[in-house]
Amino acid sequence: MLGGQVAERPAPARSPAPFMVVGKVNGRDEAARAASPAEALSRMLEWLAADRDASAVWYLREDWPEPFTVIGRAVRGRVPESRRCAHLFPLEPGAVLRGAMTARCGARLTLPEIEWLAPGAGMPCEYCLAKAGVCRNPRPLLEGGHR
Ligand SMILES: [Zn+2]
Repeated sequence: MLGGQVAERPAPARSPAPFMVVGKVNGRDEAARAASPAEALSRMLEWLAADRDASAVWYLREDWPEPFTVIGRAVRGRVPESRRCAHLFPLEPGAVLRGAMTARCGARLTLPEIEWLAPGAGMPCEYCLAKAGVCRNPRPLLEGGHR
């Protein structure tokens, strides 16, 4: 008998590499995993350096269980310092991304213009936050007289 250890699988551990980069480099199909958008970008730049005609896209793996939000802001010097707030970029599993990304608030940045941040870092974009509905513990209404 094969032992009494019933393989009760816990939820699969999250792979540290939720992103995929795929492309065509020197006529060959390439695919690579990436742990972060920054890693995906550097991989794509590598391919483009190797082949001027290379094409590449990246995406959140289609088998990722849920949408994934990455946080980034414009790199220094791109916009006035006061506007370098941290935008939320929601990614849907399997949705293909190219060179630019649109934040929840509608701000559009190209990949090389984005400085990626860890959650909680930077001054959050209030428009992104408002649209994300991430405020689980809403402040009491400060304006208006209802309750
Ligand atoms: Zn924003």
